Amino acid sequence: MTNKDNDFAGKVAFVTGAANGIGRAAALAFAREGANVVAADIAEQGNRETARLIEQQGGRALAVKCNVTQTDDVKAALEKTVAAFGRLDFAFNNAGIEPRKPAPTADYDEEEWNRIIDIDLRGVFLCMKHEIPLMLKQGGGAIVNTSSGAGIIGIKGSPAYTAAKHGVIGLTKSAALDYAASNIRINAVCPGYIDTPMMDRFTGGTPEGRAKVISEEPIGRMGKPEEIAATVVWLCSDAAAFVIGHAMVVDGGQTVV
Ligand code: NAP
Repeated sequence: MTNKDNDFAGKVAFVTGAANGIGRAAALAFAREGANVVAADIAEQGNRETARLIEQQGGRALAVKCNVTQTDDVKAALEKTVAAFGRLDFAFNNAGIEPRKPAPTADYDEEEWNRIIDIDLRGVFLCMKHEIPLMLKQGGGAIVNTSSGAGIIGIKGSPAYTAAKHGVIGLTKSAALDYAASNIRINAVCPGYIDTPMMDRFTGGTPEGRAKVISEEPIGRMGKPEEIAATVVWLCSDAAAFVIGHAMVVDGGQTVV
């Protein structure tokens, strides 16, 4: 997809979780649209590879190490963004982790709860907290936060991830209202089962594991990271100028009831 009507050229996109999966696909998609891209991730090697792939396709990219749970990391990554490219127009707050193993709520490990909430929810808050002032200073921007099908429905045995991803939607809506009049549009994307390294860990990478996940997808397949990336780019484009505080479900029908 290319948004020829929407000029991403000369604009700057900041993507977390950009070393792998959905984040890498989105980083490449922003770059294809003409944006300069900052790939931010805790995984340095994969992150550098994302930047290399962008440069290989003719784009401009900067790889920065960033743990989204660390305020100093987030601030430094955004400072490097502005130092390298002069501005911040789009942010895709996407870094996230999956639960290690399922457990019912009363048996859920407290440390695991904290680990998931910290990265999947607090990390999104921290990123927005430091992205929004930059956007306010320059008069606008667009932010997309990654939620999940688990942000829409309950998932048995997954209280932390489900709470975090529901929380991302609440946080998105609240922030969207805070800044709608300041020309900053904030939305969320809710992917279904997407074929990424995270999904490989979730299924064990086995044909049986993959088949089980696919059996829960009405469309009969997993989604591709590029299908989420296309949605994110669209949400950041002028075509979505009237879309505020929306949680866009892109899930092959997984959460349709
Ligand atoms: P992925 O393939 O595991 O990629 C996620 C990236 O985020 C990895 O490079 C990971 O690094 C990085 N990361 C983890 N913790 C971080 C931190 N504290 N700070 C910065 N980066 C960090 O996952 P994905 O499937 O692309 O998922 C991306 C997002 O989509 C997540 O928020 C996930 O919850 C959400 N999602 C995914 C699916 C799916 O089916 N794949 C469905 C719904 C929602 P490491 O590899 O070193 O941990």
